[in-house]
This record gives sequence, structure tokens and C-alpha cells, in this order.
Amino acid sequence: MTNGFHTIAIHGGYDYLDNHDAATPPIYQSAAFDMESAARGDRLAAGEEQGFSYSRVANPTVDVLEKRLAQLEGGDDAVAVASGMAAVSFALLCAAEGGGRIISPTNLYGASVDAMETFFPQFGVHTDFVKDINNLDEVESKIGPDTRAIFAESVANPSTEITDVEALADLAHRHGIPLIIDNTVPTPYLFRPIEFGADVVVHSTTKGITGHGNALGGVIVDAGHFDWAAGRHPQFTRKELVVSDERNGVWRSFADTFGPKAYIRRVRIKYVRTFGAVQAPFNAYLQLVGLETLSEREKREVATATAIAEHLKTQPHVLKVNYSGLGDTEQRDLVAKYYPNGVGTILSFLIDGNEEHVRRLLDSTRVFSYIPNIGDSRSLIVDPARITHREVPEEYRLRAGVTDNLIRLSIGLEDPEDLIADLDQALATAFAE
Ligand SMILES: *Cc1c(COP(=O)(O)O)cnc(C)c1O
Repeated sequence: MTNGFHTIAIHGGYDYLDNHDAATPPIYQSAAFDMESAARGDRLAAGEEQGFSYSRVANPTVDVLEKRLAQLEGGDDAVAVASGMAAVSFALLCAAEGGGRIISPTNLYGASVDAMETFFPQFGVHTDFVKDINNLDEVESKIGPDTRAIFAESVANPSTEITDVEALADLAHRHGIPLIIDNTVPTPYLFRPIEFGADVVVHSTTKGITGHGNALGGVIVDAGHFDWAAGRHPQFTRKELVVSDERNGVWRSFADTFGPKAYIRRVRIKYVRTFGAVQAPFNAYLQLVGLETLSEREKREVATATAIAEHLKTQPHVLKVNYSGLGDTEQRDLVAKYYPNGVGTILSFLIDGNEEHVRRLLDSTRVFSYIPNIGDSRSLIVDPARITHREVPEEYRLRAGVTDNLIRLSIGLEDPEDLIADLDQALATAFAE
């Protein structure tokens, strides 16, 4: 029997019988673990037995979070890392390392665009950017012999534009390419990309999953159904010492050793073990606590975000509200198909003013905090052009709708009336003569 979403959010991946009957997952604040016997140590080191030996590779508290998030996303396995950017970077490099190319839209989280545009090329990994990820002809025209992954955000930040995941997965799979989705904005409560064909899902768990703005984290979830040994990804079929037995002359690749788990094991054994961006057990603990109330928080925050978006549409000095959840854009069919419970808890709007009006608006809010984060239980306001998308080239920024008069909101758990009244008074102050 498989449990439902809410039951998994509370119980998934944890067995109290293995943990001295502790009701909540304990924080295993230990750098390393006893290997018990020489024979077991040999098996652990060879990767033949799963277990804990050193916390840079795996930790029991983090392990609960990994199992729980894999179950919530409908995936096979997961690796938690120190932040969302570690998750994005490791997921993409593990697919495209060794001279590969990635296809991606430009309406992404700022640091992801910067990584793909200017930093990954320093490691020989290049990106072919498309104007519109839902234009399948444009995406297909970019596919070449070195294409190793297609990457997109399920719901873009701050425009809340939606990616047609199922159509993109079909196209990718026709060419033997995996689809990697950053699902941070909707969280697995509102959307599960693997159900629509995605092969790998990444999150900044800092956001809605932790939900209280108190811990950084990231996760990579592997659906476990992509064939990494089919030819496009030589890193999985190359023999490597780390999974081989040199002493006995046995040479193996990640695909030989781990079969359908080759990708997620490579993320752990090469990327996390080498670059060391591990999730701290205390952070994993905070994220597990946050996860327990994910669905309840998302429900309320989506309802409030919808009310605020509707209110802002009627206000003077508001030129346009971006919240695809209202179903008033050409994406309404995609919203109905993929997001019956809402598209998420962020929205943005354009004011008919200049930078001075933006500054006064930001300085006038009393309930909204001027904080560059999303998915917090506090409501947050920010000016993306100067803060979250500062490192994005102007052409991409404007295409993503990030102009100087754009304001982004992340909606928390306060009373909707207080949030609306706060925005009204801040707008009035910003535009007062
Ligand atoms: C915040 C965010 C990231 C980066 O996450 P960190 O935890 O801040 O490293 C990546 N993708 C999206 C969509 C985000 O919102």
C-alpha cells in the first residue's frame, strides 16, 4: 500500500524502531560512524552495502529528508545538498560534464542563468538558451549530438509562467535526452513533475519546503527511469576507480555498478563527495519539521496570494499583475492541467512609476519585509531588477519581464486583510505628492 501525500509528509523515510523510539527524527550530529568490522568496512567502502561511515557522503538525519522528498515527488531516490544552487549545479553538471550542452529558457532564477551563461562554460559545459521553452520547434532546433539535458523551472520566478512539462519530456525522450525540472516555486504539494515525465527534479528546499526562512537546503530527486547508458552520457559507461576493485582487477562504470541508480549515485559519490556541499543534519531536521505542514501552509498562502493578485488588479498605479494562477493568461489551459491547487505563493506586479516610486514603496511596507527570499511564513517584498536578477543580462531580464518597475511578493501566513491594507498604504505613500 502506498501512502498519500500528507501521510508521507509526516512519516515518510523514518522508522522510530531504528532510532530508539524517538518520535521525531533525531539530529545525528556526528562527522563519522563506526564501521563495526573490517568486512563491513570493506563492503561500505566498495559501495556494496548501504550505510553510514562519513557525513560528507551520507548522514542518517539527512537520509530521512532524502527518502521523504523522494517519496513526495514520486521519485526513486534523492540526494540532499547544502543549498538550491548546489542542487541546480550538481544536477546539471552531472548530466552535462565533459563538454556537454544544456537547453534552457532564460526566465530562470538569477544565479542559475549566471551559472549557465558565464560560469559552467569555464568547465566546458555550455547552454543553448531558447526564447520560449514551450515552443517545441525552437527547443528541437537546438538539439545536437552534444545535448545532454533540457532544463526549466516548472513555474518561473517572478513571472509565474508555466512550463509544459509533459510535452517537453516527450520531446526530450524522443531524442534520448533527460528533462531536469527546478520545482522550487510550486513545491511537491502543488506539482510533481515526475508524474508528467520529468527525469530529475531539483529544489531549493530553503523556500516553501522548509517554509520558515530558517535553513538553506537543496535536493536532487531522480525518477530512476532514464537510461543513462544509452550513448549520450559517456561519463556513466566509463570505467572508474571509485566504483571498481583495482586489487582484484575488476573495472566497472557507474552504469555497470548501479544500473538505474547510476545518475543519483554519481551525484553523491562524485559531486557531493568531491565538492562537499553537504546538507547539515540540523538543517535537515528543520526541513523535516517544515515539511510536516507544507500542504496546510501552501493552501493558505495560495488562497491569500490569489486574493492579493485580484485586489492589486483593481488598484491605481498598478499596471499589470503577474500571477498565472488567476487563469487570465494564454496559459490558462496549462494551469488547469497541471495546477488544480494553485501555481504557488509568489506573484509580481508593475507599477506606473520610476525607481523613486519603487524605493518609496519598498521603504513604506510594515507587514511585508524587504527580504530576498520566497516561501517564508512571513510575507516578503523585493525589487527583482536590483536584487534577485541583478546578475542576469539585460536582454534576458527584460524577456523575463524583470523591468525596473517590477515588484515581487512572496506571500506568507499573515491575515490577508493586513497584507492588503499594508500594500494599499505603501502604494499610497509611494505615489503621494
Ligand atoms: C532560491 C532558488 C534557487 C537557489 O536556492 P538557494 O537555496 O538559495 O541556493 C534555485 N532555484 C529557484 C527557482 C529558487 O527560487
